[in-house]
Amino acid sequence: MSALVINAGSSSVKFQVVDPDTGTVHAKGLVERIGEPAGAASLEREGADELTSSQRFTDHREALAWVLDQLGGSGLLQDVEVVGHRTVHGGRRFDRPVVLDDETLAVMRELSPLAPLHNPANIQGIEAAREQLPQVPHVGVFDTGFFADLPPEVRTYAIDTEVAREYAVQRYGFHGASHAYVSQRAAQDLGRDPAELKVVVLHLGNGASAAAVDGGRPVDCSMGMTPLEGLVMGTRPGDIDPGVLLHLLRHGMDVDEVDDLLNRRSGLRGLTGTNDMREVRAAATAGDAAARLALDVSIHRIVRYVGAFHAVMGGLGALVFTAGVGENNVELRAEVCERLAVLGVSLDGRRNAAVPRGRAESTVVSADDSRVAVLVTPTNEELYIARAAAATVTP
Ligand code: ADP
Repeated sequence: MSALVINAGSSSVKFQVVDPDTGTVHAKGLVERIGEPAGAASLEREGADELTSSQRFTDHREALAWVLDQLGGSGLLQDVEVVGHRTVHGGRRFDRPVVLDDETLAVMRELSPLAPLHNPANIQGIEAAREQLPQVPHVGVFDTGFFADLPPEVRTYAIDTEVAREYAVQRYGFHGASHAYVSQRAAQDLGRDPAELKVVVLHLGNGASAAAVDGGRPVDCSMGMTPLEGLVMGTRPGDIDPGVLLHLLRHGMDVDEVDDLLNRRSGLRGLTGTNDMREVRAAATAGDAAARLALDVSIHRIVRYVGAFHAVMGGLGALVFTAGVGENNVELRAEVCERLAVLGVSLDGRRNAAVPRGRAESTVVSADDSRVAVLVTPTNEELYIARAAAATVTP
């Protein structure tokens, strides 16, 4: 059997046809610039040339029609028994993957205010996919799901409980598919029982978050009610004194301007003008002081979270780097690990510089005598979603 995994963003749809058991990817691709005059679509299939198109895609429905046409024409839909949708915010209603029908979609619509940038786009993708592929079950796998049973003291913000209840204010956590997949995979690749391992996963991409996973269960995470809290990201600041927002709101900015500042004009981009870590790194190497400061602020925040999670778990067995920056930025891994020597982290410089690209297995980059194993583990959110979706519909 195969699963079709769909990740619908505001102007893009990523998709993959994957065997949930073996992880074999039969096809994958991307439709971008939905709604713009010229779109961009690509599809890679096993044993065939890449297919591309620059036609206009008016909306998600047209984008999915293209995807399903191409997949169907290549015979790739025959084995698809489930569609797994990446869904961002499950609020308090969805603590596990859920079969998407009219009722659960209505609940997702109610949850949209919690994730105004993400849930509406997810819903458009789901509606279009259900319409065009009605004969197979569709399952939503929520980014918040893995963190649904965070301990109460971690979930709770110390504000008036009535206000928290009325506005559903609590920590939900995000990047759940990545943290779940990577923490399991790292334990497996170390030959360790996940039940006996304390792991910190650093998912460092354009969005970035840290999670503490103790015995296979998440016990803390850096993202909160929204994906704004925690680490410094491409365009978001991570932790910031809420008093800053009050100050800005009282002295001239309106809510939309503050929203724009926090979601699009902060983080690496706010500090340097670009959210691309490669450019920031190159500028810092060339002596640019603002770029160096941006790296230092990011590294300081990561170190602070790893130290905190070490204390929260009462130990640390493995530190795992993943996502675009975590998997590729050799220097950042070295700088973070150097600062963590106090926890027993010791990196092997040669191993760290020689992490092979494009393989699914973890690479151990710590020294043999490091008390904490340090790994680079490529994330695979699609495979996690495919497996969770398949498990949801298989009795
Ligand atoms: P997203 O959150 O959009 O999925 P990714 O996980 O793809 O993000 O990560 C994107 C980030 O990874 C960008 O900042 C990019 O510069 C960075 N990145 C990708 N490749 C490298 C590399 N070789 N060296 C440093 N950074 C990299």
